[in-house]
Amino acid sequence: MNLVLFGSPGSGKGTQAKILQERRGLPQLSTGDMLRAAITAGTELGKRCKAIMDSGDLVPDEVVVGIIAERYDQPDCANGAVFDGFPRTIPQAEALDAMLKNRGRKIDLVIELKVDDAVLLQRVEQRIKESGGVARADDTPETLKNRLAVYYKNTAPLLEYYKKQGKLATVDGMAPIGDVTAAIATVLEKAE
Ligand code: AMP
Repeated sequence: MNLVLFGSPGSGKGTQAKILQERRGLPQLSTGDMLRAAITAGTELGKRCKAIMDSGDLVPDEVVVGIIAERYDQPDCANGAVFDGFPRTIPQAEALDAMLKNRGRKIDLVIELKVDDAVLLQRVEQRIKESGGVARADDTPETLKNRLAVYYKNTAPLLEYYKKQGKLATVDGMAPIGDVTAAIATVLEKAE
């Protein structure tokens, strides 16, 4: 099964993707994690993306499409994957559809975690407090505002893209983590 976890920055996609990975053995394919790993490793790609990521803008489509295609061809994705933070633009979604089609696969389901903007801001503030000020460079109230603007402009149109394909399911991302996990499990059961 190939799943997309969809939602605004801080909506809990990473947390739920990790749970799905543990419980269903579907690897979490997070472009944000892959890009941060490239920055930490000091690769050319990392150097190219760091300033863009720190500002909360999107790195170019061809960069993330390339890293996803390479990652998806690893043997642990033989039974599918959970895409987390990808796709974030219509061209990325089209590239993902084409990539999967080439491999005789498809996106089965897109699960949106719906969270109000005010709650996202509270979550960022909480994370900054908990981290003692050493949070991610893009985890500040100012950057969140830009990341949200980018989300509404570039990423939110994907909701319509997947709705038209009849693949979109929405769950309440403001519920406690365990309840969100349960809601996702219910959606998956219905789809199976
Ligand atoms: P995330 O950890 O998913 O919030 O991603 C952190 C940052 O990495 C984003 O704000 C973007 O700068 C970059 N990024 C991650 N995934 C993508 C993507 N699919 N398309 C473009 N940029 C991305």
